[in-house]
Amino acid sequence: MKVVLATRNQGKIVELRRILDDIDVVGLDEYPGAPDVPETELTFQGNALLKARAIAAHTGLPAVADDSGLCVDALNGMPGVFSARWAGGHGDDEAHLDLLLGQLSDVAPEHRAARFVCVAAIAWPSGEEHSVEGHLTGHVIGERRGTNGFGYDPIFVPHDESRTTAELSPEEKDAISHRGKAFRALAERLNA
Ligand code: IMP
Repeated sequence: MKVVLATRNQGKIVELRRILDDIDVVGLDEYPGAPDVPETELTFQGNALLKARAIAAHTGLPAVADDSGLCVDALNGMPGVFSARWAGGHGDDEAHLDLLLGQLSDVAPEHRAARFVCVAAIAWPSGEEHSVEGHLTGHVIGERRGTNGFGYDPIFVPHDESRTTAELSPEEKDAISHRGKAFRALAERLNA
C-alpha cells in the first residue's frame, strides 16, 4: 500500500516512515503542484481532514495529514489550533513561548495543566476517511529548559516526568508523544 503524507516537512515524513513499517510513505515533494491547504477549521480533526482530503483529491492516492498543538487549561484550551500562529507570525517559536509565558506568569503551579494533542487523519480518493487522536498530558513551567524538539517543548513537562519534552531524547519523546500515539493508532488501523 502507498500513502502520501500531506506535508513537505522532512522530519514528519521520516517519523511516519518509522511508524508505518509496511506502508510506502511518499512526501509532497513528489507532487510539486499539490495545493498548500490553509488550516481554516477550529478543530485539530477539521484541519487534519481538510489537508488529507485535498491531497487525496490531487494525487489520487490515500493521503495522511496531521494537525497538532498545545492546549492549556488556564487558557480554556488555547493556543490549541492556533499554536503555530499564537504570537501572530507562523513558525516564530521564540515569540510564541514569550507570549505564553507572559500570559501564564500569574497562574499558580497547580493550575498550569496542559496537553499536547495530535489528530492524524487519512482520506481515500473514494471519499472514505478516518481520524485518530493522541494526547500527552502534563503542565507548563515558568521558564525554558532544554534544547531538543521544537515549538513549546522547552516549557512543557509531561505527567510522571521531571524533564521538559525539550530535555527528552527524540526516541523518548516519540514513545510518549501525542504524535507518536496518533500515528501508531493510524498504523494499526491501516495494517488491520
Ligand atoms: P502543526 O501540527 O504542524 O500545525 O503544528 C502546530 C504547532 O503546535 C507547532 O508549530 C508547535 O508550535 C505546536 N506543537 C505541536 N506539536 C508539538 C510538539 O511535539 N512539541 C512542541 N510544540 C508542538
